[in-house]
Amino acid sequence: MLEISNINAFYGNIQALHDVSIKIKPGEIITLIGANGAGKTTTLMSISGIVQPKTGEIRFNGEVISGKKPDKIVQMGLAHVPEGRHIFPYLTVMENLDLGAYLRKDKDNVKKDLEHVFDLFPRLRERKNQQGGTLSGGEQQMLAISRALMARPKMLLLDEPSLGLAPLIVKQIFDIIKRINQEDGTTIFLVEQNANLALKVAHRGYVMENGHIILEDEAHKLLVNEDVKKAYLGI
Ligand code: ATP
Repeated sequence: MLEISNINAFYGNIQALHDVSIKIKPGEIITLIGANGAGKTTTLMSISGIVQPKTGEIRFNGEVISGKKPDKIVQMGLAHVPEGRHIFPYLTVMENLDLGAYLRKDKDNVKKDLEHVFDLFPRLRERKNQQGGTLSGGEQQMLAISRALMARPKMLLLDEPSLGLAPLIVKQIFDIIKRINQEDGTTIFLVEQNANLALKVAHRGYVMENGHIILEDEAHKLLVNEDVKKAYLGI
């Protein structure tokens, strides 16, 4: 479904990604784990067209997307939930959700999808007229995911959904991520520093260090891999 082939990305003279290759099949949850500054966010931004890799290629459902603009990539079915959430603080929950669907022409289905996200996150239904900026951190993460779902994506890119949230909220959000995958069939690419959590929900994982993919395996095998345990699981 998504095929990243040997991408190299730079910020000025600094190379952030070195020959990164990742393959994601339809219906999978894939996680990319790694320390601060490893290049995880840059990988996601390369997929969604915010960063343009200097060399290499990214294909989505067979079509080359590297070089395309972010809005085109969203329209093709790839939605990105950025790190730090970036909801619109002065707009209400409803207005934030409407913006997630602004590129869509199938307005009848938009209503159905709105009900669907409210079923996934009943808290947002209760708070639909509240300003985004006044929501708690966990609610803002729910809103950011819901806004991305309003684009009816085939694949969801999630950047550190657990960042700064209390364990109970994190658990709720990860349960929903699993449901979005299992019930809606949405393919998920999850970037996380909380490797333990990410490897428990994912089917397969990639480990990134200093802009290189150093390891790739089934998630349950990475969870018991001695190097991964020492470096990322605090064991
Ligand atoms: P974190 O978990 O801290 O977000 P990350 O794995 O997502 O880390 P990236 O944000 O992709 O890592 O950063 C990879 C490298 O690129 C780091 O060395 C970072 O300092 C650098 N970098 C990221 N964004 C920029 C930028 N806008 N300008 C210059 N360098 C950048």
